[in-house]
Amino acid sequence: MPVDILIRDDDVNFFTEVSELDLAYSKLFPVIPINFAVVPFIVPSVTGCVQSKHWGSEKQYPIDTNRELVLYVKKLTGKYKCNIMMHGITHQYKFRKGVALAEFAHSDHSSRIIKESLAYLENTFSTNIIGFVPPSNYVSASAYNKIVKIFPYLFNVPSLKKISRPLTASNIWWWGRRWSSVIMDSLLNHRQRSLGVDLSSIDLSSRTDFNELFKKLKLIHEDERKVVIVLATHYWEMGGDSVDGTPMNLEFIRFVNSSLSEGINFINLDQLDAGVKNEKYSNIRVF
Ligand SMILES: [Zn+2]
Repeated sequence: MPVDILIRDDDVNFFTEVSELDLAYSKLFPVIPINFAVVPFIVPSVTGCVQSKHWGSEKQYPIDTNRELVLYVKKLTGKYKCNIMMHGITHQYKFRKGVALAEFAHSDHSSRIIKESLAYLENTFSTNIIGFVPPSNYVSASAYNKIVKIFPYLFNVPSLKKISRPLTASNIWWWGRRWSSVIMDSLLNHRQRSLGVDLSSIDLSSRTDFNELFKKLKLIHEDERKVVIVLATHYWEMGGDSVDGTPMNLEFIRFVNSSLSEGINFINLDQLDAGVKNEKYSNIRVF
């Protein structure tokens, strides 16, 4: 059973409503673990995870002040082995010349601020946090150097623009390997670090063709090598329609069930960590 999938859901923050998480995943929680990338101190700016009426404020909203949400997520971590990761610090976007810049494009947080935010989040959810997801999947080289010293796992989305190979089993395998290394190869030109694991993700959205994705994963699954694939999604997108007009949450549930019936495994970050330590995955480089 060579493929393990880790579902990474981004954006849980002070403004998240429990009903939104329920709509997206309530049928899946008993079946697979969802890994939540959580924003500790959101500043509500242009983003799908905050209602537009709040945009433009400079105020920070600490997640622990939404007690209902914190209790709900804590229950998920205990009962269904969902793991929590840190998703930026404020997730604020700032505009320069009409362009929205992600948090780590306009702010160079100190290591102390990143560590304090991590301690706050671990304390709020009474859990150990080993993964970091940068907002908009963007980190500057400076931020990268700090983050990999604090978090064992850094999630990212690679640029797939360079990939123009035909769809064959061996090329799909090559893509899997490429996903795990492309960030280091293209974003950063310095390789002196030997810290952290860079986990590239496939971004799911309402434009995702889940049938195509399933076909690709099945091909990879038939390979003998053991790989882990990260699928990145957003709970707040799940209520919308996907490519064929079906609600995205239903498409996603169907995709998960098809994958499970093929023997594809869904894991949380703790399980991935154990697998990496046992050198289980051939597409993960520990650098
Ligand atoms: Zn985000």
